[in-house]
Amino acid sequence: MNAEADALAAVKDAVKEADRNHVFHSWSAQELIDPLAVAGAEGSYFWDYDGNRYLDFSSALVYTNIGYQHPKVAAAIAEQAAKLCTLAPGFAVDVRSEAARLIAERTPGDLDKIFFTNAGAEAVENAVRMARLHTGRPKVMSAYRSYHGATTTAINLTGDARRFGNDGATAGVVHFWGPFLYRSPFHAATEQEECERALRHLEDTIVFEGPQSIAAIILETVGGAPGVLVPPAGYLKGVRELCDRYGIVFILDEVMVGFGRTGAWFAADHWDVTPDLLCFAKGITSGYVPLGGVAISAAIAETFARRPYPGGLTYSGHVLACAAAVATVNTMAEEGIVEQSARTGAELLGPGLREIAERHPSVGEVRGMGTFWALELVKDAGTREPLVPYNASGADAAPMGAFGAALKKGGLWPLLAGNRIHVAPPCNISADDVAKGLAILDEALSVTDAHMS
Ligand code: PMP
Repeated sequence: MNAEADALAAVKDAVKEADRNHVFHSWSAQELIDPLAVAGAEGSYFWDYDGNRYLDFSSALVYTNIGYQHPKVAAAIAEQAAKLCTLAPGFAVDVRSEAARLIAERTPGDLDKIFFTNAGAEAVENAVRMARLHTGRPKVMSAYRSYHGATTTAINLTGDARRFGNDGATAGVVHFWGPFLYRSPFHAATEQEECERALRHLEDTIVFEGPQSIAAIILETVGGAPGVLVPPAGYLKGVRELCDRYGIVFILDEVMVGFGRTGAWFAADHWDVTPDLLCFAKGITSGYVPLGGVAISAAIAETFARRPYPGGLTYSGHVLACAAAVATVNTMAEEGIVEQSARTGAELLGPGLREIAERHPSVGEVRGMGTFWALELVKDAGTREPLVPYNASGADAAPMGAFGAALKKGGLWPLLAGNRIHVAPPCNISADDVAKGLAILDEALSVTDAHMS
């Protein structure tokens, strides 16, 4: 080893040691993890201290929509930091006003007021609070196949197993089944049938819960963590109609899908629906500085026109975060990144993943749009038995562990969840890097093929 490599190895050891001793990691048994020490990142790549480069097909946690270290956004944050780092949320500030204006201009319909938070879960918490105060009703409905964040209300709304450790801490949460034809809860044979049955099930649930007790229905426009669940045509419009019929606030959670991920500014644009409240985070700043928020309809804004809104955060609309948001939105617009995401999905990722699926019997389904895809991995294509059981851990999860190791060895950093690989590179990934990533994926899928029964 040369001197430079020695020095890097020493830094890596120090980083890992301090991490092991003092960082308490999310969602983890602290002694059973071995986080990769990352030395730097740029565009669609990051690298470790040993010189391994990884093509990031996870966009961090599906948020680096413009890739790492975009120079325009990094410069805007630095310029803002030199000028004014912070100011209390009660003041009108140029970058906060501008960020709110840019977001309001892009959100659908009359969602023209922006309540800023620091992250997605806080956006969900505040949207739910607004809905309860607006309607005077207590309950909130959400899908079993959903993730809405890790704070108390948000984790209880979350339908997946991550809520189990907190179950029951929030009163008034009602779960229902959303449409998902591949594993249809309604035993439907077509998308249309799935859509109709899902809407009937939702209406039955509303009626039996008592519509007068339901403040809101919250949905991910396209389910992200639950597996890139693209709703069938007509579903979101149908939910909108049910909400209107029963006086229920319709909340769309676009924390993961907003700002270009699905090839539109907001996923709701694909189905031409306008919720009453829209939650966002992640892509608004590509995560360069934490920022989230709720876009609010005119009717709900009116509720708080002369009555104080009982909620707020010390860092709401943080000045550095708003500067990052302004630069991110402007960069996405100037560089056509939303359109690029749509094109990459339609021309490269969609066709490429479907072609790969044909060669690999362990791929049960390919679904997605824009730069937001998932492959459902199965043991048996006929029965659709998942490659690993729902919520698998330890030895049960071994086939997915081996698959992940093969991908990383090939130089691709994957987002694996249950029996799925999510394919969510930066929205501005180059065509060359898409091809590179698909080739690595193609090769690694021989590992999951080998685990079929
Ligand atoms: N809603 C959705 C749809 C999400 O995907 C996430 C995070 N993955 C959240 C809410 C929570 O966001 P945060 O982790 O920023 O609180």
